[in-house]
Amino acid sequence: MKQERIGILGGTFHPIHNGHLLIAERAMQSLALDRVLFMIDRIPPHKEIDTGATTDDRLKLLTLAIADHNGFEVDTMELYREGKSYTFDTLTALKERMPEADFYFLMGSDMLRSFTTWYRPDGISQLTTLVCTVRGGQSGGEQDMAKLLHKQYGANVILLEAVSDLSSTEVRDRVRQALPIVDFVPASVAHEIYYRGLYQTEEVHRLYEQLRPALTEGRMRHTAGVIETAILLAQENGVDPKQAQIAALLHDCAKYLPKKELFTRSSDEVKLLPVLHAEIGAQLAEEQYGVHDPAILRAIRLHTTGDAAMTKLDKIIYLADMIEPGRDYPGVEEIRSQKDLDAAVLLALQRSLTHITERGFSVHPATLRAIKDLGGTL
Ligand code: FE
Ligand code: FE
Repeated sequence: MKQERIGILGGTFHPIHNGHLLIAERAMQSLALDRVLFMIDRIPPHKEIDTGATTDDRLKLLTLAIADHNGFEVDTMELYREGKSYTFDTLTALKERMPEADFYFLMGSDMLRSFTTWYRPDGISQLTTLVCTVRGGQSGGEQDMAKLLHKQYGANVILLEAVSDLSSTEVRDRVRQALPIVDFVPASVAHEIYYRGLYQTEEVHRLYEQLRPALTEGRMRHTAGVIETAILLAQENGVDPKQAQIAALLHDCAKYLPKKELFTRSSDEVKLLPVLHAEIGAQLAEEQYGVHDPAILRAIRLHTTGDAAMTKLDKIIYLADMIEPGRDYPGVEEIRSQKDLDAAVLLALQRSLTHITERGFSVHPATLRAIKDLGGTL
């Protein structure tokens, strides 16, 4: 029977990003691995709190990221081990579990350079092949190091061309600054980060905590979709992503208020039930969530109807609500594919108008004003 070839990629995965996946894929192909184990490290609980994601969160993101990859697996052995995990202990345990397998331990150049200072470098060298990822054509002395380790410990070192400039720190920083992370992590990971409100500033984290009990799980997923879409649109259209993020987060905060309260609170020109949560949402955002930026409040207020003279932020929130990834209705792809913000908003407004009139509902006058203002025909 052919011996199984197993790659091991360790890390805190805080969070997992495309660079990790790229290295694992490259290793799998080049070394003909049957499996790659993503060995997720423990982070002491007191340190985790500072960084905005729990062990459960990191594990969930990792699981989502590898879900579509054949042969990629999560290994939680180090996660539940108290204290520091030594690579030697982990490899020993793996060897006991799978005595027939050949192991390939993936590492960066910095790890190779510090290898002699690890616990039991000799033992590790007997248990696994070391795979050091290197930049193509560039020598950082890895070749010499590999020879040295072979001489000293009998280590078998393979240099693998695979380098990613992505880092988890950068992903966390971008989330905190409300910058898009589409090019950094798989879509499922990005969505979960926005759904769970991970890696956010304390202020945004507080808003998430307050909002979550007011929404259903489905509505929270929708909200996460609106956030990721709004952030992208903000970047594309030169709008402050922080404003877009907060407006998107709170846009449906009044969705589940009792009907009676919605009507009592409203001072709208016409009181249409499906629309009321937008006006009242802006009220709640200010009174209960402590948001005082009038631009954000206005974007929340107009998110279901639009109106004349919409700002870019108003348009972004209106559009994001209509085209977030969770939306699925005839025509949504056409709206998504519009590159121009005004054109996309107009299309969305007109689609909404058709939808409302077809069902015999009343159209809010603000929607008609918005369409006219953008040069659309009624
Ligand atoms: Fe809404
Ligand atoms: Fe919504």
